[in-house]
Amino acid sequence: MPAPGENLRINPDRLWDSLMEMAKIGPGVAGGNNRQTLTDADAEGRKLFQKWCEDAGLTMAVDTMGNMFMTRPGTGPDALPVYLGSHLDTQPTGGKYDGVLGVLGGLEVIRTLNDLGIKTKHPIVVTNWTNEEGTRFAPAMLASGVFAGVHTLEEAYGKQDAEGLTFGDELRRIGWVGDEEVGARKDKMHAMFELHIEQGPILEAEGKDIGVVTHGQGLSWTQVTVTGKDSHTGSTPMPMRKNAGLGMARILNLVDEIAWSHKPHAVGAAGHIDVYPNSRNVIPGKVVFTVDFRSPDIAVIKDMEDRLKVGAKEICDETGLEVKFEKVGGFDPVTFDETCVAAVRNAAERLGYSHQNIISGAGHDACWINKVAPTAMIMCPCVNGLSHNEAEEISKDWAKAGCDVLFHAVVETAEIVE
Ligand SMILES: [Zn+2]
Repeated sequence: MPAPGENLRINPDRLWDSLMEMAKIGPGVAGGNNRQTLTDADAEGRKLFQKWCEDAGLTMAVDTMGNMFMTRPGTGPDALPVYLGSHLDTQPTGGKYDGVLGVLGGLEVIRTLNDLGIKTKHPIVVTNWTNEEGTRFAPAMLASGVFAGVHTLEEAYGKQDAEGLTFGDELRRIGWVGDEEVGARKDKMHAMFELHIEQGPILEAEGKDIGVVTHGQGLSWTQVTVTGKDSHTGSTPMPMRKNAGLGMARILNLVDEIAWSHKPHAVGAAGHIDVYPNSRNVIPGKVVFTVDFRSPDIAVIKDMEDRLKVGAKEICDETGLEVKFEKVGGFDPVTFDETCVAAVRNAAERLGYSHQNIISGAGHDACWINKVAPTAMIMCPCVNGLSHNEAEEISKDWAKAGCDVLFHAVVETAEIVE
């Protein structure tokens, strides 16, 4: 397969300037960004991205979820497009790079191809997926999910924010309802690559420039309800207590043990806990909490779920409590496409960047797109693994390495023509 020469590089200063320019739109309160989806700031960011793309000769299409597709034509009449992109929306107290690097990195790939006068057989499409973050309108990765057929358009349009505004109305209000049917192009994709910051501490700790993402973690949410009897903390003798709080404490210890038993990739915790009646001098009569287990291996997730149920039942039997379980969410682990992953690894190798395989702990648009097209992700380190925080930071060198690898992986896949 024709691959670009080792000497070809993106322009890191131009990439960095664009990142800083985009960060001026929807500034946060502490140096980061608040460019939440379908806000005026989102619309302004989209306009700027559109202008940059059109200046680079790309043609825009927008679908009914507001996903933006900016196309550079290829020379092959029947060659399917290679996609690259991520998201421009941010958390309310988000950083300048989460998502944005993948979109503007995609634009930088196009600008570099233009500089070098390189033509490709396959068209290249830079994409901005709407509402990846899911903070304003849950769930996350909403528009790539509709695109991939995971949710329906009607479901998505009906999602409400905290003020009761709907996704559909807000998308219309900011003027970004396109006329292309969402998902219409999902069977006509050659491949998709997403460059993203790691949002974790591994690459920086290992001193690696590039994470070659092989899998995305699967997720399982089990809501556990432990019921005992609320009674006075002072006057109830120890043998007569039915302390749901104690049951929960022991179960959470078990959750920790279960996750450790599947090291290094599995994780487990309860992030959401409700205690009833939540009063200083009442022994909790009921506790409801959600156990979050994650692993790249579906069998491990299943094992963790099963051991939670058996173990929690034992604990509750011993402590005179009742326990109920309800699966309230989850998605299967993702295995990214071997050929696309190899293109990323080869590119890092060819360019002399240090790299290692990595598993994405967070969800990404690429996880849904992988259902409909061969997909891979490239990760670059971020300082202290910090993300979803205004202090999120990366170095220009890391951005450069990530974008160089994106460039080479995309061009290898899109095939250079003379
Ligand atoms: Zn992101």
